Amino acid sequence: MEKQIEKIFHRPARPGMVGDGFRVFNYFPNEQITQQRISPFLLMDFNAEFDFGPSDHLRGVDVHPHKGFETVTIAYKGAVAHHDSTGNSGVINPGDVQWMTAGSGILHKEYHEKEFSKKGGPFEMIQLWVNLPAKDKKADPKYQAITADQMGKVILPDNGGIVNVIAGTFNNNKGPATTFTPVNMFDIRLNKDGKLSTQITTDFNTILLVVNGEVVVNGAKAGEHDFILFKNEGEEINISANKDSVVLLLSGEPINEPIAQYGPFVMNTHRELQEAFAEFQSGKFGVLE
Ligand code: MN
Repeated sequence: MEKQIEKIFHRPARPGMVGDGFRVFNYFPNEQITQQRISPFLLMDFNAEFDFGPSDHLRGVDVHPHKGFETVTIAYKGAVAHHDSTGNSGVINPGDVQWMTAGSGILHKEYHEKEFSKKGGPFEMIQLWVNLPAKDKKADPKYQAITADQMGKVILPDNGGIVNVIAGTFNNNKGPATTFTPVNMFDIRLNKDGKLSTQITTDFNTILLVVNGEVVVNGAKAGEHDFILFKNEGEEINISANKDSVVLLLSGEPINEPIAQYGPFVMNTHRELQEAFAEFQSGKFGVLE
């Protein structure tokens, strides 16, 4: 049975700035798409393609903390550099994904890569926040730098395009990311008239973003920047492309635990949030200039 669509949302009306480098449309959380409804996902910010002019100053977000969840940064155009308090640093180039486990607490900064800043140009990326179950919220911070060539690659028939499997399993092809709870994350590139079919179990919460192009999903048309929330009914997802399209398909097993959030900290209780804030203030997340 085809997975039923609960609702198709258009792009939010206005972007917000995260620091001075990320011009993002926040698709969730909100009243209609709550963190419980789309667990294990907590947040999705989409920097729809935007042309940043040349700059000597590195636009971005300066040092800030995270604790109790994971941030996943998917770069489509432009390049993002980062540094964190565990000593890790790197550059996320188009097609790459950075999967950072904040776990017990980390400091990091994220900004436009130097050469990209100098030249300026189209910038397009997504940041997702993925929750951790209570038992893993104290996991050691780490990150997975997953480059485009490391993705699970599924070539679709009839020159239909390609599926880059970031995490989970697409039609028996596994992605490289390791996750604490089951998550499927598929970067789908369809050529015009390209098609795919896949199955996602009904109990996984499932969402889809049209990054570029226009597709038909289980009979419903979804245009550029539209966002689909599926019901937890049916398994099959059929996508066909009306034009060359880029689609992000996300699903995951819900974490059925209380969610307490204060800014960049996501725990289970208010008391744990107070502890997290105290830890951050006392320097327990390390040092980053
Ligand atoms: Mn951050």
